[in-house]
Amino acid sequence: MRKLAVCPGSFDPITNGHLDIIRRGAKVFEEVVVTVFNNESKSPLFTVEERKQLLEDSLKDLPNVRVDSSSELLMDYAGDIGATAVIRGLRAVSDFEYEMQITSMNRKLNEDIETLFMMTNTKYSFLSSSMIKEIAKYQGNISGLVPEVVEQALREKYK
Ligand code: ADP
Repeated sequence: MRKLAVCPGSFDPITNGHLDIIRRGAKVFEEVVVTVFNNESKSPLFTVEERKQLLEDSLKDLPNVRVDSSSELLMDYAGDIGATAVIRGLRAVSDFEYEMQITSMNRKLNEDIETLFMMTNTKYSFLSSSMIKEIAKYQGNISGLVPEVVEQALREKYK
């Protein structure tokens, strides 16, 4: 069986921090599926289709990575596609408590799927999609923090 991992998130939009985690995950697993889960409580800026397109454009050089979206529970989805693991990124201690709660619940829902955490590259430890949107809204400089397609898409949204 191919070792497959899901990399779930809102990706509203994808940043270089996400990209770094996905690239590194793709070296460990035979296949990585990056899946957009729509979290309405986060009032997304981009539609699910727009987020998928930005992910696809940013990840096209990685042959063992594909992009998907789902409105299922993460663990049901992961089971359905035959994933053995879920990959999450950790930035700072502040991420830890939230991730621990979700991971404990997810293990209860399906104990056959492991959640693996990867430490962010320190140069991205302050980086989040919400921070990027805030800066872009005021036409601040976000180059080097997001893929170029994302820079363009944000310029369009906030023009
Ligand atoms: P969610 O809404 O599920 O938290 P996000 O799109 O915000 O989704 O993040 C998806 C995953 O990427 C999470 O595991 C998050 O911790 C991780 N992540 C976000 N930003 C970074 C970053 N700068 N460096 C490393 N991991 C990150």
